[in-house]
Amino acid sequence: MNTYDVIFIGSGPGGYVGAIRAAQLGFKTAIIERYKTLGGTCLNVGCIPSKAMLDSSEHYYNASHTFAEHGILLKDLKPDLAQMIKRKAEVVKQTTDGIQYLMKKNKIDVYHGHGSFKDEHIITIKKDDGSTEEISGKNIVIATGSKPAILPGIEIDKKRIITSTEALELKEIPKHLIVIGGGVIGLELGSVYARLGAKVSVVEYMDRLIPTMDSTLSKELQKVLKKLEFDFYFNHKVTAVKSSSKKVTVTALDKDGKEIQLEGDYCLVAVGRRAYTNGLNLENAGLKTDERGKVPVNDHLQTAVPHIYAIGDVVRGAMLAHKAEDEGVAVAEIIAGQKPHINYLLIPNVVYTWPEVAAVGYTEEQLKEMRKAYKSGSFPFKASGRARASMDTDGLIKVLADKDTDEILGVHMIGPRAADMIMEATVAMEFRASAEDIGRICHAHPTFSESFKDACLAASENRAINI
Ligand code: FAD
Ligand code: NAD
Repeated sequence: MNTYDVIFIGSGPGGYVGAIRAAQLGFKTAIIERYKTLGGTCLNVGCIPSKAMLDSSEHYYNASHTFAEHGILLKDLKPDLAQMIKRKAEVVKQTTDGIQYLMKKNKIDVYHGHGSFKDEHIITIKKDDGSTEEISGKNIVIATGSKPAILPGIEIDKKRIITSTEALELKEIPKHLIVIGGGVIGLELGSVYARLGAKVSVVEYMDRLIPTMDSTLSKELQKVLKKLEFDFYFNHKVTAVKSSSKKVTVTALDKDGKEIQLEGDYCLVAVGRRAYTNGLNLENAGLKTDERGKVPVNDHLQTAVPHIYAIGDVVRGAMLAHKAEDEGVAVAEIIAGQKPHINYLLIPNVVYTWPEVAAVGYTEEQLKEMRKAYKSGSFPFKASGRARASMDTDGLIKVLADKDTDEILGVHMIGPRAADMIMEATVAMEFRASAEDIGRICHAHPTFSESFKDACLAASENRAINI
């Protein structure tokens, strides 16, 4: 039997990044993946393919809606969904092949098959051809990720009633896509098809979009998605979804118990994701999941069995690729006896609509709940010369700072390239900058990032320059 210092079960951003860090630290490392390609949800059916479709659909939308104003005239423009999906598949292949290469480069043994605990140290790998192999690990890391959550009583038929995975592979542009869940998947994939011409209706249980983010962002995002002709049904609880060969009917109740029925040709169920531990036989290692199906871990990512760790979507916290990656690095370093630290408050959160939504730190709602004295400043992109030049004037940046010390406590932005701009705020907060510190740093002109400087000046002493 092959024996290893560290075995990672699952090759998503948690598992593959952790395996590389473990190999860098000199550990004999193995990774087990049940699918043929490495990279997990993120690379195969998540972050990367959804961003490929978002970029393609955004190009089409601009070509049909904004190019003429830029003085670019096109004739006979039409979307080619099959080509968009083919390009997306090529991007995914290049990216997953890249992980295969990184495993080889770092001398990590890759096993394809479903891994399960035989006992605390031995993992049985069941391969596609039915054969099994056992390997043994001094340390084992569970990085088995997550799957789409389902609604009780609603069957995902994968044809008309779909999850994000099928939504990335549709054969036609929906005429009317009904999305259950106004969170990040619903709004990103809803945007893809709305830009290509679909009517999109979002049924959301809560009273606003992206309900875990700052409510300023929810309001602004709702305004820009309205321009894409999204319809919203807030405070609605879906009670039934029925499909036939050509259509779907979604039934929901509003908060007064009044029933609505929506008819469309596809229904995307995007109501969150649940930890995936099926067939892991955790009990053979003396482990069990919590009431939410997650693997419980302590601050050192250790399960109840000290040499078995768990990271990424399968444990508590944000279900984000970069959170899983940082836990992968941390777990390898913990096994090596180092003392890494993850600042969970400063994990940036991004929604890749256009304009993009991005945030880091506390929301205004959280600061109120904490009774923290704070001040707030914001800057709208319509006052930015760079945004006017590129016709990206929707959105704003809001900075929340400590009322007494001026330390930045939270940054919330919706606007062009917010996904990249949020990193300036994250670095600033990691180094505990004050809003004035950022206001005094020279920002290149004309850039979108100047708006962050102005928002900081607005928060610090109400002295934004450009508004
Ligand atoms: P996963 O990526 O889920 O990987 C787990 C792997 O373990 C899988 O490959 C699975 O096959 C394997 N596995 C499971 N059980 C076993 C077993 N018993 N034996 C062997 N292998 C097993 N996050 C972002 O940060 N940014 C984004 O833009 C973003 N976009 C997303 C878009 C979509 C449509 C979706 C669905 C998700 C998106 N996410 C995004 C979330 C992101 O994909 C996850 O947070 C991330 O993949 C979690 O990484 P992980 O390593 O914990 O698990
Ligand atoms: P989510 O938690 O972002 O949104 C789910 C939404 O569904 C919420 O607004 C919730 O209130 C609503 N909801 C729940 N039950 C409902 C019901 N019965 N009827 C109507 N609405 C209901 O989850 P998601 O969009 O499915 O995404 C799953 C995970 O994947 C998220 O945790 C997210 O972090 C990750 N992800 C991240 C990105 C990114 O970083 N850009 C992109 C896609 C996915």
